[in-house]
Amino acid sequence: MYNKESLAVVWLKRDLRLQDNEAIQNAINTGKRVLLLFVFEEFLLKDPHYDKRHWDFIKESIRDLNKLLLPYNSKVLAVNSEVAATLNQLHQHYTIRDLFSHQETGLLCTYHRDLKIKRYCHNNLISWKENIWNGVLRGIQNRKGWIGQWKEYMESPQFSFHPKNQLLTLHEIEELEKQFSSTDLATPENSPIQKGGVTEGLRYQNSFFKERYLSYTKGISKSELSRESCSRLSPYLAWGNLSTRQVWQAAKAIRPLSKNKKDLDAFTAKLKWQAHFIQKFEMEHTMEDSSMNKGYQMLKKNISIKYQKAWEQGQTGVPMIDACMRCMNETGYLNFRMRAMIVSFFTHLLWQPWQDCAVYLSKMFIDFEPGIHFAQVQMQAGETGVNTLRIYNPIKNGYELDTNADFIRKWVPELAHLQTKHIHEPYSMTPLEQGLYNLKLGIDYPHPIIDLKANRQRASKILWEMKNDPIVMQENNRILEKHTLNNTSLNIAG
Ligand SMILES: Cc1cc2nc3c(=O)[nH]c(=O)nc-3n(C[C@H](O)[C@H](O)[C@H](O)COP(=O)(O)OP(=O)(O)OC[C@H]3O[C@@H](n4cnc5c(N)ncnc54)[C@H](O)[C@@H]3O)c2cc1C
Repeated sequence: MYNKESLAVVWLKRDLRLQDNEAIQNAINTGKRVLLLFVFEEFLLKDPHYDKRHWDFIKESIRDLNKLLLPYNSKVLAVNSEVAATLNQLHQHYTIRDLFSHQETGLLCTYHRDLKIKRYCHNNLISWKENIWNGVLRGIQNRKGWIGQWKEYMESPQFSFHPKNQLLTLHEIEELEKQFSSTDLATPENSPIQKGGVTEGLRYQNSFFKERYLSYTKGISKSELSRESCSRLSPYLAWGNLSTRQVWQAAKAIRPLSKNKKDLDAFTAKLKWQAHFIQKFEMEHTMEDSSMNKGYQMLKKNISIKYQKAWEQGQTGVPMIDACMRCMNETGYLNFRMRAMIVSFFTHLLWQPWQDCAVYLSKMFIDFEPGIHFAQVQMQAGETGVNTLRIYNPIKNGYELDTNADFIRKWVPELAHLQTKHIHEPYSMTPLEQGLYNLKLGIDYPHPIIDLKANRQRASKILWEMKNDPIVMQENNRILEKHTLNNTSLNIAG
């Protein structure tokens, strides 16, 4: 029997980059040759939170990594399989004693998968080293000292990518590919959704820091302007094309000469929020499908498939909501306020359970990041107890944030020819006006599917009353105790 070469394997997950990738650095440090592996796992491909758009983003990221790896005569081994089965297969050719990845704060199904891999590694004498992801810590009981540790992490040096001829060669990887069901990495050319990859991520980062950030706070909630003036870095952070530390340090580097420190600081504050929410999810994983404040678990809402479908398809008869939904379905992106408003509409005005919109939105947002997503959906649904209850008025928000109705015109073209005030409130048009504009409500565009005012009052009454429920109040204390950051500029309760 011949001695098989011992390999260090990097299992890429949501860290699809070469620079500032601790798992790759740790593998290189073993001095062994290194294989970069991505597994398209069957159970995740089928998971209801994911959509083809996410897998396309990942494929684009891997294609980009392969380009960046060309000077090293290497590429990523991307296979359709399960992780343990892949390692078993690799074992036939190499000895694997070292596996490296980041520690994933993900869905319950990925956590269970990780437990399985842990057992597999234990049984097969593989040491699996998981590194910290963007400063999120596992196993802590509260947030004492957390923000200081996070800041220290952000300010510490990045890991640079310097393999010493250690990467498996293109030829070797192509030989391995023959052993697996390979994945076609092609994706649609002309998609309106942001494309994945380090190169794309850096392009967004550079254009943001060059100029776009100058109107960051001015545009942050505006439906149209925000698409330019916000960084649009969320998918690159969520899939790890860029580490938060890379972006944080790039922002700090331009700060001394920046023409607008206020907007730059507002942006870096958001990066703290990102870690804060993911840390919260790490410490409260049941948030994926149960209200974090257990008092709200007694809130029962009747499911209306009709309402849910109208909301999903942008056919509610409320133009600002319909514009947001259609825009998100097509482009995978909305700014924070629009996301909050469509969740409020679904959970308050349609009075539907937040869990149902959480799954749909996770599929649509190209930046789906479980740690931020579930916490935000619960917050916007008003079911945390500790955050201010906000029931958004979509008409008022339309007038304020899409004043000339450019956004609605673009996404609800059947209203585009109307005067601005009619676009925001088409249901208030008289039959004469409808005739004048050649628009028949109920045929060309739906009547509002609900009574906005009455439904708002119902939601407000029930949710404000629930704030005084003893279990809700008891849970508030528990949540504040566990998740509040003390003595920081990051003023987020719970
Ligand atoms: C219901 C709902 C669901 C959301 N789901 C996600 C999600 O799955 N993934 C996701 O990345 N963001 C989510 N967000 C937060 C926020 O809307 C997006 O991060 C932001 O709109 C992304 O655009 P940007 O990159 O241009 O943001 P910028 O304003 O340029 O912010 C820079 C980065 O900071 C982080 N960030 C910004 N705002 C927040 C916030 N409020 N909370 C936490 N982190 C923030 C993101 O990583 C973002 O990329 C959600 C918000 C709501 C209300």
